[in-house]
Amino acid sequence: MTHQFPALSPEQKKALSDIAQRIVASGKGILAADESVGTMGNRLQKINVENTEENRRAFREILFSSDASINQSIGGVILFHETLYQKDSSGKPFPALIKEKGIVVGIKLDKGTAPLAGTNGETTIQGKERSKWLDGLAERCAQYKKDGADFGKWRAVLKITSTTPSQLAIQENANTLARYASICQQHGLVPIVEPEILPDGDHDLQRCQYVTEKVLAAVYKALNDHHVYLEGTLLQPNMVTAGLSCPKKYTPQDVAVATVTTLLRTVPAAVPGICFLSGGQSEEEASLNLNAMNQSPLPKPWKLTFSYGRALQASALAAWVGKSENKKAAQEAFCKRAQINSLACRGQYVVSGKTDAAAMQSLFTASYTY
Ligand code: 13P
Repeated sequence: MTHQFPALSPEQKKALSDIAQRIVASGKGILAADESVGTMGNRLQKINVENTEENRRAFREILFSSDASINQSIGGVILFHETLYQKDSSGKPFPALIKEKGIVVGIKLDKGTAPLAGTNGETTIQGKERSKWLDGLAERCAQYKKDGADFGKWRAVLKITSTTPSQLAIQENANTLARYASICQQHGLVPIVEPEILPDGDHDLQRCQYVTEKVLAAVYKALNDHHVYLEGTLLQPNMVTAGLSCPKKYTPQDVAVATVTTLLRTVPAAVPGICFLSGGQSEEEASLNLNAMNQSPLPKPWKLTFSYGRALQASALAAWVGKSENKKAAQEAFCKRAQINSLACRGQYVVSGKTDAAAMQSLFTASYTY
């Protein structure tokens, strides 16, 4: 084995590690507002709002112009390309609006998934042509950094069936995630590494734990092979949960033990933060599961926090329904979920009174795309 040829200077490493630490500072998580145009269209359709550029912009403005105290619970916001270049009603670019609250701006870098031939419907991460896509990533990272982003996200999708995930899908997605992470770091962006195992299926908690361990072990082997600086990365995994159609039901404590055990076995302590996706859980379930993890007596060498899309926005969308007069109500709904999740990051969320029925509604979509 050759000696190491350092890919990053000490200054680059410090800058990356500082960004990652800011995003997951105590009580803070991420708002994943990086839905692609199509995914945002599905969200808007549910509230009977047309999927126009202006409607997408208007809803994002509501979120980003929430009370400045939101910066106590939100450390980073992930944007889709279109949103990075949009402005609020007074003409201020969204990145500036977010940054003036002391919140870090991130960008979705993947362009969804593409079929992996010879598998049972499995996928890899890519644009139209894989080699061009990864080659062009360096230039895109450099441009996004100039335009205000300090972190990136790259989502891989794996699924659990009796024949999946295959070894091929695990290895291919782990390597692509690692190559992306290395390119991001070269350009000053903290990579969020997201290997999402979908919750579709009737598998039990143990099967999800087994698969999540195999996937994360492969991801961290690949990150090591690619010389990725772990202190300057964040992980965005699924929680270990049973499949949505599993007849057996598990408590948040069961989910917490299975998830933290999996992470202890696979994620190095050098990683500053693990920011879970909500994956179609209801808003309340996502908060309760995160809270149970942070209450668990198991060791937790990383911050355990959130990078929620649906579980931070569902109530706000329902309150807004496309009407400007509902702006305040939508912002209140968003801030409420953000505050609850902030408490859950500290294991301090205590359910008081009756939980809103809407917050208990499953946000599951089959074979979810983003
Ligand atoms: P959900 O919380 O809606 O699963 O989305 C998070 C995310 O970033 C998916 O890539």
